[in-house]
Amino acid sequence: NHIVEIDSLVKTYGETRACDGVALTVNAGELVALVGPSGSGKSTLLRHLNGLARPDSGSVRVLGVDLATARGRGLRALRRRVGMVFQQFNLIGRLTVLENVLTGALGRDPLPRYGIVTWPKADRAAAIEHLDRVGLADRAYQRADSLSGGQQQRVAIARMLMQRPELVLADEPVASLDPESAAQVMDLLFRICLEDRLTVVCSLHQIDLALAWTRRVVGLRDGRVVLDQPTAALDQER
Ligand code: ADP
Ligand code: ADP
Repeated sequence: NHIVEIDSLVKTYGETRACDGVALTVNAGELVALVGPSGSGKSTLLRHLNGLARPDSGSVRVLGVDLATARGRGLRALRRRVGMVFQQFNLIGRLTVLENVLTGALGRDPLPRYGIVTWPKADRAAAIEHLDRVGLADRAYQRADSLSGGQQQRVAIARMLMQRPELVLADEPVASLDPESAAQVMDLLFRICLEDRLTVVCSLHQIDLALAWTRRVVGLRDGRVVLDQPTAALDQER
């Protein structure tokens, strides 16, 4: 019943062992921070969880799907169940905030093959609701590129929720934000995990954010897991 089950994962790029025997299990409803310096293997590990990277050896199971072997239709189906949040938000700047959130529904349903996308009323209502949740309903009809970085990341989270994911992967979601916006985004991820019972795996290079906002910290160094602790235990040590 694990959401993520990784064992003996090895991934090399030339001479670099980006993942060097990683074992990691994540249960439903957990919020896990992956921390470690640049180059420690955080994003390579995250890329294995949605099939963007394939292991050289070892096993990676996500939502019951074996990602060492999944291909084609099976891989696409898995990706629709996994929501992504990126460091650079990846919104479409010339579209409105609402349109950006609505594109999240395309991650859920098969892409329309012909013609112009029209959005069902129910999707529009859901998108507005998600925008309300992230505190940006009043910005729905503005262009996405008119928003601040922190606001854009909250829109990206609303878009991700639109997909109704079962697992959320966030790769350095606050690395390009000021401290106040970063705290707002972490608070949002925390609440999503708690209120929606969503499982979240989030890479962070600042341990203080991990301690403040997550329940479990997994430390990586040179592609190895060097720490795996409940946040509460680490907090007491400080
Ligand atoms: P982090 O996310 O912790 O910064 P990465 O997973 O990006 O770490 O990188 C881990 C190591 O693997 C680094 O040495 C990086 O240069 C290398 N690496 C990652 N992806 C590639 C790639 N596509 N090609 C070559 N080397 C890579
Ligand atoms: P981060 O450190 O924020 O995780 P990187 O700058 O290491 O990100 O990597 C960004 C992208 O570049 C990733 O897709 C990664 O696979 C790729 N990459 C990282 N290191 C290398 C490398 N040495 N050679 C080729 N591609 C790399």
